[in-house]
Amino acid sequence: MLLIACPYCGERAETEFSYGGEAGIARPKDPHALSDEQWADYLFMRKNSRGMHRELWNHAQGCRRWFEVERDTVSYVIKECYEIATPATSRDNQSRAD
Ligand SMILES: [Zn+2]
Repeated sequence: MLLIACPYCGERAETEFSYGGEAGIARPKDPHALSDEQWADYLFMRKNSRGMHRELWNHAQGCRRWFEVERDTVSYVIKECYEIATPATSRDNQSRAD
């Protein structure tokens, strides 16, 4: 069983959490200025990368708070769990293009 370290509660079983998808996707400031294709890209297109991935998780059966997880999508090894607003050099250097 995968253990996830909620930044607010500590390590808990994966069954207490809900996956929230890719992290770091900002809502467009003016959605009405986007074409239908750009809006669809924002809503549906994700990197779906192999390897290290930033994702959102919710501690649904605990504190019910959202946080970010850096997880290897191949090995399921979790590198780090942190509050969404926490700055970190490794995360700041990631871009949507990779
Ligand atoms: Zn929690």
